[in-house]
Amino acid sequence: MTSVQAQHALPSYLNAEDLGPWGVYLQQIDRVTPHLGSLSRWVETLKRPKRILTVDVPIERDDGTIAHYEGYRVQHNMSRGPGKGGVRFHQDVTLSEVMALSAWMTVKNAAVNVPYGGAKGGIRVDPKTLSRGELQRLTRRYTSEISLIIGPNKDIPAPDVNTNEQVMAWMMDSYAMIEGNLSTGVVTGKPISLGGSLGRREATGRGVFVVGREAAAKRGVAIAGARVAVQGFGNVGGVAATMFADAGSKVIAVQDHTGTVVNQGGLDIPRLHKHVAEVGSVSGFPGAEAFLDRDAFWDVESDILIPAALEQQITAANAPRIRTKIILEGANGPTTPEADDILTDKDVLIVPDVLANAGGVTVSYFEWVQDFSSFFWTEEEINARLTRIMQDAFNAVWTVAQEKKVTLRTATFILACTRVLQAREVRGLYP
Ligand code: NAD
Repeated sequence: MTSVQAQHALPSYLNAEDLGPWGVYLQQIDRVTPHLGSLSRWVETLKRPKRILTVDVPIERDDGTIAHYEGYRVQHNMSRGPGKGGVRFHQDVTLSEVMALSAWMTVKNAAVNVPYGGAKGGIRVDPKTLSRGELQRLTRRYTSEISLIIGPNKDIPAPDVNTNEQVMAWMMDSYAMIEGNLSTGVVTGKPISLGGSLGRREATGRGVFVVGREAAAKRGVAIAGARVAVQGFGNVGGVAATMFADAGSKVIAVQDHTGTVVNQGGLDIPRLHKHVAEVGSVSGFPGAEAFLDRDAFWDVESDILIPAALEQQITAANAPRIRTKIILEGANGPTTPEADDILTDKDVLIVPDVLANAGGVTVSYFEWVQDFSSFFWTEEEINARLTRIMQDAFNAVWTVAQEKKVTLRTATFILACTRVLQAREVRGLYP
């Protein structure tokens, strides 16, 4: 029995032998609990999602057969506001994963102090196996199944891995049809033509860059000329790579689901984007000096490493091999607690996911506010507000980390969990 199993009253619907990402989250909560003072009385609240909805999502395939997919929406905590969090379409989605992602949203929203709780959704499907029509039917049926618990004042989904503006437009339309009114505020990350916000698509990568600049200043690393390695070249990794390259960094390695491209002189990022748009992956990029297999990525020495793909990528197995100064967690949950300790001992500064990738939800918040008032801001206003919120959050976390002599992850959890549990305490238990 592991220490996580021994210390926690685990629900019957999880596999105690393989807790997955939820087990990682529980260990993170254990690390913050000693710092919560009298609020630790409420900490069990954070170890149990408020509400879990599991749905069957049937669709008619183009060939006339009927396919069924497993779908989830988990609302982890709504003490500070309505649920907020993305929807992931991926063949490896599990309940444990969606639970952990929803809990990290609770922490993230409190860390940047936007007035939301935490939620997340997903469907266990490889969307690459579906036609556009099938994808639309899947999205609409899933939305109808979870429409009981979502809404502009209840829970507001957004894009995550393998979902995009188009998926959000179908979700909004399905919800509007069910409710009989427009309800643009039911999802964020929508197309601009449908109440989306300028700057939302780039927001997460931009936020990663902003906190990266702050972290680099603290560590004495110059952004111009810094060697940057990025895992994942999608929405988050692709934008972060562009912003670092634009600021004069050398993006020396990029990995996606097919492999790793390397150029010690700096990859030409606009050209790499063009290549990925044409070919579907970084493989075969003519501007690379070398192609490495996926695992060899972790041996590339860098100044800044940005995991921006999936969770549990940096583990006790590869952490000892990693040579970098700063890790910016663009992805959710990329580092296991064991790897966290190994890297901290090696003096690597880790800016945790719940802070580093909070730019996306911050601009989602702006989108929701704009939709309610039907008054839209300029991109300059949005980027300036985003930058201020991310800088302030980073510096508040930095101060707590210095005062308490803890990692930036534990410091972020201290700030965020204190906000969540203060709200819980002052609201009291119902009835
Ligand atoms: P995306 O689908 O746009 O891109 C994912 C990228 O990861 C792709 O380049 C893909 O090739 C690569 N990838 C997939 N599997 C891989 C593997 N096994 N090894 C290496 N690379 C792999 O997704 P995204 O929106 O950029 O999200 C990436 C991460 O960032 C996720 O953890 C997500 O939860 C997190 N995140 C996203 C946002 C957002 O606004 N999109 C906000 C916060 C956090």
